[in-house]
Amino acid sequence: LEVGANIELAEEVATALTYGAEAVGLFRTEFLYISQKTLPTEEELFANFKAVAQRLDGRPVNIRTLDIGGDKFASSMELAPEINPALGLRAIRYCLKEQGLFRTQLRAILRASAYGKVRVMFPLISGVGELLQARAVLEQVQQELADQGQAFDPKLKVGIMIEVPSAVAVADLLACHADFFSIGTNDLIQYSLAIDRVNEYVAHLYQPLHPAVLRMIRQVVDAGHAAGIPVAMCGEMAGDARAVPLLLGLGLDSLSMNPLAIPRVKQVLRLASAKEWGRLAKSALGFATAAEVSRFMEKELSARFSDVLAARVPLPAEMG
Ligand code: PEP
Ligand code: MG
Repeated sequence: LEVGANIELAEEVATALTYGAEAVGLFRTEFLYISQKTLPTEEELFANFKAVAQRLDGRPVNIRTLDIGGDKFASSMELAPEINPALGLRAIRYCLKEQGLFRTQLRAILRASAYGKVRVMFPLISGVGELLQARAVLEQVQQELADQGQAFDPKLKVGIMIEVPSAVAVADLLACHADFFSIGTNDLIQYSLAIDRVNEYVAHLYQPLHPAVLRMIRQVVDAGHAAGIPVAMCGEMAGDARAVPLLLGLGLDSLSMNPLAIPRVKQVLRLASAKEWGRLAKSALGFATAAEVSRFMEKELSARFSDVLAARVPLPAEMG
């Protein structure tokens, strides 16, 4: 099982590696759009992505295309006010509408792929049609770069984030058109439980261990594996050491998280055996409420490694 880091800046690669990251499972690319008044140029984006690829020195990076809109705003872009921004023009929808901006970003990602193990990942895909549209733009950009004699990885892997319930329902169909899946639980929980992820009044209803969420994770893993593609998770849940045995048991192939969470998650993984956690996941899927799953997990985990979960997180220098 690969443990990766979620980062937003090229400068974070060093910290991620110090904390034991084997990859960057999620490179959020909003920063350059949010931090300045004008849109970043292809050269700016390219320099940024290339730096990440080079600093990773052969380790993979999943560069997520722009996920603007919803709760993420940019001063360089005019977004019309929406009554329901979480259900509005965000992420891949925005990019498919503003194709000039999308192409610029794809060109930069592709050019950076000549300098390391770069993969591209589309956020908020809701169905096959949308994925095919995004792939078509990518292919056009690849052709354009080839015609211009620009170097890029012709075998660039294309992944999608699974964060909309409709994508879970058609995960088997999406798997035919993607090289990997990465489950974005922050949004998947928001959309499946109808809980605004930034609304404090309903925060107590935001339940990663809700049986609906666990079933969806299982469904996505099964669909991905049936099609022979790996399934990752890069939402906050992946960095929760208490959830990790369950995620392992559900069959995830890699987890990507805040770099600071990596040491503890690795400790838990070292103590776990996939077979044992498979049995645990099967039992967890049998409960009817998040509270029951949580109680069950607490009991199972405290019996095995309460000391690990209670202990101070080791600093990188103390890690073996
Ligand atoms: C997610 O939705 O789980 C995710 C990782 O993406 P973001 O938090 O950037 O929306
Ligand atoms: Mg998301």
